[in-house]
Formats: sequence, structure tokens, C-alpha cells
Amino acid sequence: MYKLETIISLAKRRGFIFQSSEIYGGLNGCWDFGPLGVELLRNLKEEWWRAMTYRDDIEGVDASILMHPKTWEASGHVSQFSDPMIDNKTSKARFRADNLIEEYIERLRKKNRTQQADVLEHKLNLAKEPSDYYRLIIEYEIPDPVSGTKDWTEVRNFNLMFKTFIGPVEDNGSIVYLRPESAQGIFVNFKNVLDTARQKLPFGIAQIGKAFRNEINTKNFLFRTREFEQMEMQYFIKPGSEQEWFGYWKEQRWNWYVYMGLNPEKMRFKPHEKLAHYANMAVDIEYLFPFGWGEIEGIHSRTDFDLRNHQEFSGKKLEYVDSVNNERYIPYVVETSGGVTRSLMALLCDAYNEEDAPTESGAMEKRVVLKFNPRLSPITVAVFPLVNKEGMPEVAEKIYKDLHPKFKAQYDISGAIGRRYRRQDEIGTPFCVTIDGQSLKDDTVTIRERDSMLQDRILINEIESYIYKRIGS
Ligand code: ATP
Repeated sequence: MYKLETIISLAKRRGFIFQSSEIYGGLNGCWDFGPLGVELLRNLKEEWWRAMTYRDDIEGVDASILMHPKTWEASGHVSQFSDPMIDNKTSKARFRADNLIEEYIERLRKKNRTQQADVLEHKLNLAKEPSDYYRLIIEYEIPDPVSGTKDWTEVRNFNLMFKTFIGPVEDNGSIVYLRPESAQGIFVNFKNVLDTARQKLPFGIAQIGKAFRNEINTKNFLFRTREFEQMEMQYFIKPGSEQEWFGYWKEQRWNWYVYMGLNPEKMRFKPHEKLAHYANMAVDIEYLFPFGWGEIEGIHSRTDFDLRNHQEFSGKKLEYVDSVNNERYIPYVVETSGGVTRSLMALLCDAYNEEDAPTESGAMEKRVVLKFNPRLSPITVAVFPLVNKEGMPEVAEKIYKDLHPKFKAQYDISGAIGRRYRRQDEIGTPFCVTIDGQSLKDDTVTIRERDSMLQDRILINEIESYIYKRIGS
């Protein structure tokens, strides 16, 4: 397992991810995607979009981030979307009380105090009110990880929604929220999509978009940020069929992550012990990050909670009329709720490898390689002239210019060929094309595959089909 710092440092050095507003010292919990990061991000979203919407039963939408404030009353976010927060009086450090207890449980486990850890975990799962968390922290004498002291404030609930005002007057009547999840943009459009897309149940609505949560603690790079992107799909079904669809989507989503390149040995399903107010079944897909297991996607059976509440709060009927069976009901929903940026981080961690590889002289050296699924790689193909003379750059440049409109390509003439291969390995480029002396005689090039480092010699006019054959169109 490689250290998270190593991966963050590569991400910064090669232009994948930068701290937001870095020249001003950064803004906590916000990150910017650089030239390579944005390609990776777009490719990931494109793959999800294809997998989820290039089928008969799912439509896409792109709803606005600001929504009518009643949306968040109906969804339960105004009253319930909060985390329990606690401060240490000595260090002034602030924590999510449940996370503080979870980390303490982890420490107990590391010390093999398994029974005590299990009992505390069980109690934590039963905790609901701020006072429940407070009692556990006091009962177990949990110390502040920063100062080691135990002088805690009370635990209080902190609502995670960012508030702002619409229009010029900052009063209570003009409060709006930055959406904390993209799902509600789908629920409020259920009727619009049903009426316009000629769908019948079961069918789904998918969306990719930004979400904002004023997290108490942001940490672990992209894992917990205040601004992030989600890829969510709500699948509307007949009440009573949720078991079947929950199983179906669990399997589909697991397989998608494996197809994207995640190592299934570092993935697991984690059923929720404590169900959210809207769910009757819930499971997370977790990935083993360098800091431990963490959720990348939740699959939730949300019953008719959201549509029923929106119907009540809006006064608009959100029923489905099944004309074949002459029935009318509010559909149930099974949702797949994934984080784009969190999944990207999982894919980055999973792709990172350090290996021993031979140099041109035959000696061994360390090679850093991002073994992305080639469909995700920011650069698909790099083109090099072997040497910067004898007509090779001219041929190489022409090949590069021909490839560039079809694939994200890079042209590199600087340094020894081995160095150029290493530079591309480090950013995960699956194919490198080299133009050498023989190319000038017989119109062939070598094409090197990133993971095996093996080279094929192919005709220049075969490069495009060679790549398409390996990555799909
Ligand atoms: P957590 O328990 O980690 O706070 P959650 O259960 O609140 O997550 P959901 O509300 O189910 O998360 O959100 C769906 C997905 O959105 C998560 O699986 C995750 O990938 C992503 N996500 C949620 N919160 C954040 C965040 N603060 N930063 C980055 N991604 C997030």
C-alpha cells in the first residue's frame, strides 16, 4: 500500500490536482483539477454516463444547483442534515463526534481490545441525539487526539448545508441553499421526465453534478471535501419490487467499478447498520484507501419517502398511473449515489504502482506507473521521434497532428527515449508511438504498451485502428 502523501505529491507535480486558491494559502476542503486531472475527471464522468444512460430505461437530466428552499424542507435536509460536532476546550480542535468515537474504536482494535471495541461500536450505532454521543465520549474517557486532554464542550448538531441569499435582500425570505446532493434535482423533475420521455416504470433518471457540504472536518485529500461532484441515478419502481432492484443495482455498480479498473480485492460491500430516515435498505461500496476503508458509493432503497414528501409540500400529484393494471401509486426508488471525485481518488490510488524496470543500459530503476483503464487515462497516446534529427521529427509531428483530433495526444522530443517513456508511465498514458530510422524506410513505427512495456511494430496507417481495438470506440 502506497502512502497517500506520495500520491498527492504526484498528483500535484504532474498537474492532476492542486489545492484551491493555492496562491492565497489554499481554501480548506476545496481542490482544483489541472490539465491532466480534468481529462481524467471528464473521462470518468463520460464512462459513468455511457454505462448509466446508454440504455432504454434511463434518462439524463442536469438540474440547477440552487433549488426552491421548500425542496430541502420536504427532503428532510433542513431538519436532519446535520452532524454532531464537539470542540476540545484546550486545543480548540473541532471534531465530528461520531468520527472521534470511530477513530477511538480503531485504536482499541489496533490494541487488540476487540470486545471493548465491539461494544462501543454497537452503542455508537444506537446513538441518535447529540447527548448520546457526548455520553459515550465521557463514559469511555476519549481523549483529544491533538492535546490528549478530555475537557470537551457539549455535542451540538451542525447543519451541513451552505446557505446563501437569492436577490439583493439578505432576509429570511430569500435564503437558498447550495444543494448538498444532486438527488433532489431528480425527484422534483420526476413528473416532467415521465410526461416528456414516454417512459414506463421501472425507469431511472441519472445526473452528474456538483454538491456542497459544509463538512466539520475535511481530510484525506479528495475523500471529504466541501465542494465535490456526484453521479447519481434514481430508479423508479413499483412498491414491493425494491428487493429485486436493490440486488440488481448492487451488482451493476460493483461490476462497473471493477470494469473501471478498481481491484475487487480492495473493494467490499458494507451494509448500513443505522438506516437514514429515508431508507429501508442501504449498502455502501467501500474501497481500501491508504488511510483505511471508505465509502465510494451508496446504494439505497428510499421507498416513496422523497416523492411522497414532495407531493405533500408542493401540492402537486406525483403518482404513477399504470394503465395496464389500472393502478395508481407513488413509485418507490432505488438509488445509486456515487461520488465522482471520491471515486476518482480511489482509481488514482489503485492505479499507482512503483516497479523495478530496466533502463536502456539494462540496469534496473524505479518506474512509477499509473495503471489506469486506458479509457480513463488523461493522455491516450504519446508520440516521439527517436532522435531530434534525420527527418524523424517531421514524420513524428505529422503523425501527432493526425492523431490529435481523435485521441488526447502528446508530443515529446526532449530527453532520452527511456526518460520520455517514464514521463508517460507516470501519468498513465497507455500507448507510446516512436518514430525511428526504420520508420523512414518502411512507414512503420513502434507502439509500446504501458503495463507490459512490450512493443509492436506496426504501419503508420494502422495506429488509429490499433488503439481503437484496445480501448474501444
Ligand atoms: P459520508 O458518510 O462519507 O459522509 P455519505 O453517506 O453522507 O458519506 P452520501 O450522502 O450517500 O454520502 O453521498 C453519496 C456519495 O457522495 C458518497 O458515496 C461519496 O462518494 C460522495 N460524497 C459524500 N460526501 C462527500 C464529501 N464531503 N466529499 C467528497 N465526496 C462526498
